[in-house]
Amino acid sequence: MALDRSTIWPYIDGEPGEFNYSRYDHPAGVEAERALGELDGGHALLFSSGAAASSTVVLGLLAPGQTIALAEGCYYGTGLLLRELERWGVRFVEFDQTGPAPEDADLVWLEAPSNPFLTFPDMEAARAHPAKVLVDATASTPVLFRPLEHGADVVLHSATKYLGGHHDALAGALVFRAREDHERIKGLRGRTGPIAAPDTAWLVLRGLKTLELRVRRQSESALELARRLDGHARVERVRYPGLGDELASRYMSGGFGGLLSFDVAGDATRVERSTRLIANATSLGGADSVLETRYRWEGDRVPENLIRLSVGLEDVEALWSDLEHALE
Ligand code: PLP
Repeated sequence: MALDRSTIWPYIDGEPGEFNYSRYDHPAGVEAERALGELDGGHALLFSSGAAASSTVVLGLLAPGQTIALAEGCYYGTGLLLRELERWGVRFVEFDQTGPAPEDADLVWLEAPSNPFLTFPDMEAARAHPAKVLVDATASTPVLFRPLEHGADVVLHSATKYLGGHHDALAGALVFRAREDHERIKGLRGRTGPIAAPDTAWLVLRGLKTLELRVRRQSESALELARRLDGHARVERVRYPGLGDELASRYMSGGFGGLLSFDVAGDATRVERSTRLIANATSLGGADSVLETRYRWEGDRVPENLIRLSVGLEDVEALWSDLEHALE
């Protein structure tokens, strides 16, 4: 679609039309939301980042004194954000998402699969919980897993990752089961302002055109690399849902995603600095492979020798020889 960067649109016969001020809505954003809503089977809203989507959903769905049950080992930044919001009276407790959440939680926050530990949530246990259930499905994408079909109320994506897909757009998305939650959060987004810009929405739309092709190819390559890493003498442990995770096998279909972590024997910082094809950089979900030790960001929460690898679209044999060389 043509990109309309307008912040204003003339009123029609003296009345605001569908588009009037871009902090509320703009054509590329609405089109991206239509596409994202269709992919996840709900009502979507686009944000300027995954973190903006996270903070808006907390502010919009919870009140001071309420508690979020957060999947332990999920994206480090989500815990940091919730700690920040504690000043506003919203509490959080961590729990093992492969089992039931604490009963008194007011929102259950899952991650499928978790970044960087790659655990998969028990959706049946979550569905049985009386509170609303949010699933951050950034790493699985709607190509492999649609949480709303398994009882979730809200899906969260860092669209910066697979949805955008090229490491050049910072964006986030929420997809709601209930129209009323969508309306509530849309109103809050309009008042607080974290909508994605038109250029970003356009890049997300372009990314969505190849999403399925990318995710399938990345899943195939990641499974192959996970198996080979698993048999490598210098690798102590591989974390990947495709290596026999029972919950992931139950809920994911068509692949296990392009994200994996592996713990190396010895100095992981030497390994991360030794790849040539795979960039030593943060983030995940792009066409180009990246890898990094997570200890630099997360400290003792992760093993010092854990390396997170986001598998891109390069030839799998070229990726393997790069990894083999770095491990040696
Ligand atoms: N959720 C997950 C699983 C992530 O990995 C990230 C970022 O790494 C986020 C949310 C936050 O997204 P963003 O960086 O787009 O704000």
